[in-house]
Amino acid sequence: MSRFLVSLSLLANLFLLASNAYSDPLISRVTPPSKPYHQGQNEPVTARFLTDQRFDLQTTVQPDAGTTITQVRFVIDGKELVKISAQNSNTANTSFVTTGLVEGLKPNSAVVSFRGYSNKQEGIHHLVVEATQSDLKVTADEWHVFEIVGLQRLGSKAKNVIIFLGDGMGATHRTAARIVAKSYEQGKANGRLAMDTFPVSGLVMTASLNSIVTDSSPGMSNYVTGNKANNNEEGVFPDDTKDAFDNPRVEYLSEYLHRIKGTSLGLVTTADVFDATPAANAVHTSDRGKGSGIVDQYLDDQNLTGLRVLMGGGRKWFLPNASGKIEKNQPVINGSQRTASSDYVLPDDLVTGWGAAKGAKDPERNLIADFRSAGWQYAPNYSVLKDAISTKNPPHQLLGLFTFSNMNVAFDKINGRRCASEASASAFANGCAAGTGKGPFGEGIETPLSSSSPRGSVVHDFGFPDQPMLDEMTDAALKVLDHDNDKGFILMVEGASIDKQSHLMDTDRWILEVLEFDRAVAMGQRYAQAHPDTLVIVTADHECSGASLIGSLKVNRDTVAKNLASDPGKAAVLRDKQVGVYEGAGFPRYRILADGYPADTDIQGKVLIGYGANADRYETWLSNPRPTSDSQQPFIGVEPLNTYPAHPAARNAENGLFIAGQVPGDNAVHTGTDVPLGAMGRGATLFTGFFDNTDVFFKIGQAMLGGVRE
Ligand SMILES: [Zn+2]
Repeated sequence: MSRFLVSLSLLANLFLLASNAYSDPLISRVTPPSKPYHQGQNEPVTARFLTDQRFDLQTTVQPDAGTTITQVRFVIDGKELVKISAQNSNTANTSFVTTGLVEGLKPNSAVVSFRGYSNKQEGIHHLVVEATQSDLKVTADEWHVFEIVGLQRLGSKAKNVIIFLGDGMGATHRTAARIVAKSYEQGKANGRLAMDTFPVSGLVMTASLNSIVTDSSPGMSNYVTGNKANNNEEGVFPDDTKDAFDNPRVEYLSEYLHRIKGTSLGLVTTADVFDATPAANAVHTSDRGKGSGIVDQYLDDQNLTGLRVLMGGGRKWFLPNASGKIEKNQPVINGSQRTASSDYVLPDDLVTGWGAAKGAKDPERNLIADFRSAGWQYAPNYSVLKDAISTKNPPHQLLGLFTFSNMNVAFDKINGRRCASEASASAFANGCAAGTGKGPFGEGIETPLSSSSPRGSVVHDFGFPDQPMLDEMTDAALKVLDHDNDKGFILMVEGASIDKQSHLMDTDRWILEVLEFDRAVAMGQRYAQAHPDTLVIVTADHECSGASLIGSLKVNRDTVAKNLASDPGKAAVLRDKQVGVYEGAGFPRYRILADGYPADTDIQGKVLIGYGANADRYETWLSNPRPTSDSQQPFIGVEPLNTYPAHPAARNAENGLFIAGQVPGDNAVHTGTDVPLGAMGRGATLFTGFFDNTDVFFKIGQAMLGGVRE
């Protein structure tokens, strides 16, 4: 730190006079973002990169009225890197953009970029941007720095890293799942979740570049770029253009390690694969919602990321949309949601600077066919997935798309399996009778409803009764990645609906999501035990819903049902006679079946959760037979899915206890609380203590490239 401060104050003195000498034009943004200590900081805030990690340099310059910007120079450590003029703009890896800019800038403003910069010299570097306008006035912005973080050369390196990302999973989520799975005896847990047994623990600060409360895009991106991103943005710094795909990039861990040592990447999620967490490992965009462009880049840029496994939901983005149009409530018959407006075309300087594919607006693209012709094996359901990995030679690349959008949650997938088997009596809360058991058929559905499971369940309503569980997907991913693994791999496994069901305050659904996630963690743990050169991390991107374990249910399901009928909405009964707190909560005892999930979620003594970041809701304390409507599903507006509760306040409104929300909108929100992190395997010791989410990137880098003393 002292070396850092000395060099900065030296620079401050050197450039103080020079800076005051200039006035116009206005340099309103310099990327990468930094804020040296003299700008009111106690400590300097700088962008940090690993040696040779790539990132874009960019500036926004606003000229005086009646003038234009004629030239921008980027100067690093006193040496000119590049001079970019309006005349010879948009050549090679530079651009000078004056159209398509955001509102609020002065006329003739310019966004000027140098793409794919990298620096091998460890330490603090000084970045000067100098801009000239047409009346020959010049401004230099001297106050920007970035740091190249050096690695210690220590010894044994981690070859593989597995990141288990429980989306929205705070401490409460883990505690609740442990109590359900293991029970307590005289105050001691009868057992531990797999994630509880990791030998090293840390606590992570989760803020994004522009908020104390992050969403999932920076939540993941910060872990795997080492830099802060704005909310809704992944793998990029913010900019002043409207295009969602042209932002200044920072190289992902996957791209960096693939470029320097050929590492492979696997992405496994229970969400739609375009969702923020998986995309924030491989795709650069300032708009996490651009589904067609995001999924296209998974394939188009597989040579940049080393992507070999992609599994989850999201088939709607891969199916061709011949007309290119989407009518609300009249989904394209095959379920496709591809549109030109959510697709990508990159500017030439990005293509050149990063070696990225140019892209095309092609809603008619059949992306599954394109994956297949690129050599990928495709699994549309669990049966095909099982077959694919049961051979001695698993596929080199595996695409699994098991639903149109987000996959069904564990609660509903397990119900579907139990309905189809002898265990049907153990289905949760009417699981076998929910809905009509008739999915929204379309040409894109390759998993027709099974005649052997005729009873109807949520997964039947969605049309996808044969979905894998997250641990089954993780097992498949590890088999594929381990098969050709001389160069090592990064595997990111996301328990996505811990977050999604927490947003919906659907307590039993997110608790079972944590159980499903933990079974996947156990898979990674077993892999690392057999492969000691593997680092495993289990953490969250942020907490969701302000979940709080308040106690347990004092009465049984029948009594709750009776009270809901006789005293609908009455706190004196539904809250005061039913919610057990302190010793009234005792120790909940769930019976766990062979499939790993509780026989029944509505037991007397069930775990009760309060929500500190809640929207309006009606609480019954009982499991909800059907999940709340998921707006991402293409067939949500047609039968049978349009009969599902539209949002938490539309659920149990007729008899539940009204709980007024503290936040606007329909859903509980993310919170800014710190999240736990566990680590095991090679390099795990680096993850002890209290750190920022961007620190995780440098710790992984140290483990995989610098190594650790062991
Ligand atoms: Zn998240």
